[in-house]
Amino acid sequence: MTEPARRPIVDGEPKLHEHHLWRQAIVYVRQSHPQQVLDHVESTARQYALVERAVALGWTPERVVVIDEDQGQSGQSAATRLGFQRLLAEVSLDHVGLILGLEMSRLARSNKDWHQLLELCAIFRTLLADADGLYDPTDYNDRLLLGLRGMMNEAELYLMKSRLLEGMRHKARRGDLLNRPPMGYVRGPDGDYQLDPDEQVQRVVRLIFDVFEQQGSLHGLLRYLVAHDIRLPIRPHFGPNRGHLEWRRPSRMTLQSLLHHPIYAGAYRWGYRKMDPRKQQPGRRSTGRTLNPADSCEVLIPDRFPAYITWERFESIQQRLADNRAIATSLGAPREGPSLLVGLLVCGRCGRRLLAAYSGQANRLRYTCMRATIDYGAPGCLSLAGAFLDDFVAEHLLRVLQPASLELSLAAEQALQAERTQLEAHWQQRLERAQYQAERAARQYRAVEPEYRLVTRELERQWEEALRHEQLEQEAYARFRREQPAELTASERDAIRRLAQDMPGLWAASETTAQDRQEIVRLLLEQVTVGVQGDSEQVDVRLHWAGGVESQHRVIRPVARYEQLSTYPQLLARIDALHGEGVNFEQIAAHLNREGFYPPKRTDQFSAAMVAGVLSRRGLHGPRPRAMVDGSVLTPHEYWLTDLARELAMPIATLHKWQRSGWVQSRKVAVAAGRWAIWADEEERKRLRRLRAYQRKWPEPRYPEVLTTPKAREPGESR
Ligand SMILES: [Zn+2]
Repeated sequence: MTEPARRPIVDGEPKLHEHHLWRQAIVYVRQSHPQQVLDHVESTARQYALVERAVALGWTPERVVVIDEDQGQSGQSAATRLGFQRLLAEVSLDHVGLILGLEMSRLARSNKDWHQLLELCAIFRTLLADADGLYDPTDYNDRLLLGLRGMMNEAELYLMKSRLLEGMRHKARRGDLLNRPPMGYVRGPDGDYQLDPDEQVQRVVRLIFDVFEQQGSLHGLLRYLVAHDIRLPIRPHFGPNRGHLEWRRPSRMTLQSLLHHPIYAGAYRWGYRKMDPRKQQPGRRSTGRTLNPADSCEVLIPDRFPAYITWERFESIQQRLADNRAIATSLGAPREGPSLLVGLLVCGRCGRRLLAAYSGQANRLRYTCMRATIDYGAPGCLSLAGAFLDDFVAEHLLRVLQPASLELSLAAEQALQAERTQLEAHWQQRLERAQYQAERAARQYRAVEPEYRLVTRELERQWEEALRHEQLEQEAYARFRREQPAELTASERDAIRRLAQDMPGLWAASETTAQDRQEIVRLLLEQVTVGVQGDSEQVDVRLHWAGGVESQHRVIRPVARYEQLSTYPQLLARIDALHGEGVNFEQIAAHLNREGFYPPKRTDQFSAAMVAGVLSRRGLHGPRPRAMVDGSVLTPHEYWLTDLARELAMPIATLHKWQRSGWVQSRKVAVAAGRWAIWADEEERKRLRRLRAYQRKWPEPRYPEVLTTPKAREPGESR
């Protein structure tokens, strides 16, 4: 490239015409990266010199406009570059006779933008100029040249980028491409990472891993750190305090990236972030990044750095984190909520994980196999009441735990003691630091000559502040000691032993949270497979115990209807037989209970009323005498609601609901204390029976309309 020559106006310049000079000349100035703006002051100056070139070509200085909004905008695409947008707009408004740039094809960074500009310039007869010459896009040869230059420019950009990347990759393969040391590491004099020399920093990093393993979840870790006011040691990478230790509030994001970072197990990684262009947002550079797990990073060199944890521990933490992501195919972390088994239950039919759902006014727990429904919109596979299953498993667990209780109490005592020791050490270091800071402030104050009054005043202030801080820390420590003495007291020891020996009492205690129970279950059980025999009350439960043992159980679940009971035929036969012998309802109920029959809801045993219910549903009880079958009150084919319900062998409440929904022809009879009369001829009764028998399948939202639309009453019949 040569310096733009100050040429005199060439009258015979064949491409330059009057109509070009009538319009503006635009100088487009751009440096892609802020660093370039600083480094290439010279080239920026050259770009501004283009104004003089325009003047030399015949424009008056007022008619030369400089667009430099895009300074410092890295621009692979025009979307974020306002200056380029403005340039396009000006051209398409026919305001521009000439565009000047330092090197024409660098006006636009991508081929697409470049061709768009060329197209517009051709339509509006705008000339393009750079240091090398003047181009007319309406001229075929010029246009070809400009197009080629755009293409070469893009190719050059690509080569530059890939050469840069290749260099980085080469360095990374040796494990030498280091960016910024993560928490707990500092850059040593040789440029390599080493453990942070500050002992407290090391201790906090180790504590994070210990606590995560103990709590089992990121959230538990965060909660623990917040509860114990443990702050994270950060050495900022920039700013006035660069490289100096700061103690910051723990955040989920920081902890998460720390737990995922293989450096803590001593490994070097490179290429753990990849770009997903679909997730990128224009103008936001950091969007669209997805993270690679450690083992699929482009470069992973084990034992490259001093480690905080072993590689095995790192892997088990990764596994735990993966499990915690509540994906249907992995073991779930204990969730808050009354469900004991969610995350452990697996459908015996399709092998998917069961979900917990709460429904109804009582917020009853149900376990459902809905994964296929949620993912694929397929019909639901399994759904069963939850409480009975939780109870069953809890009962089994306690039976298993009983013999181990003494050992448990000792382990609990040790764990509690270890935790206290760790916290105590953390506090000692905090106090030491505060004390050191106060002493240093005092030393600094004393070291200054009294003449420097401004300085002494500031140092005095700092000293006082350090003293105040030390006092606050002392007070906080005293509070901590009061709440949690360093040694377990005799009564605490006692309480632990007593509790551990009364497992059922401990399980049911009000201090035991649902989450505690979930954690206990997860310690002992790996999986619970549940299968239902058809649609019946018989449930097969397989418990997969930690350690690989499996046990198989048959449990009775509550079901909605008598017909679902596997014993339904025997039950009916037994009731019929006893009823035939003239045994009264109460005695029949007693017989049934003694013989091991159970009602569908499993809430209690058979009662006389339930026996009567079973009989009346089958019409054996005999219809109730119609109270007011009276031509003056009811028309032909009209029934009292209760009578029709009995006729159709369905619950009164359900028929009431249909009536409220307008699914039957009904009227309120004032003379009969406002009772509902429902009109249903032969055809209507048939429809209602079909409606009753109809079973909706998920995801069908409502019953078919043919079944819910009542037949119009003939004119003569209505009243
Ligand atoms: Zn299923």
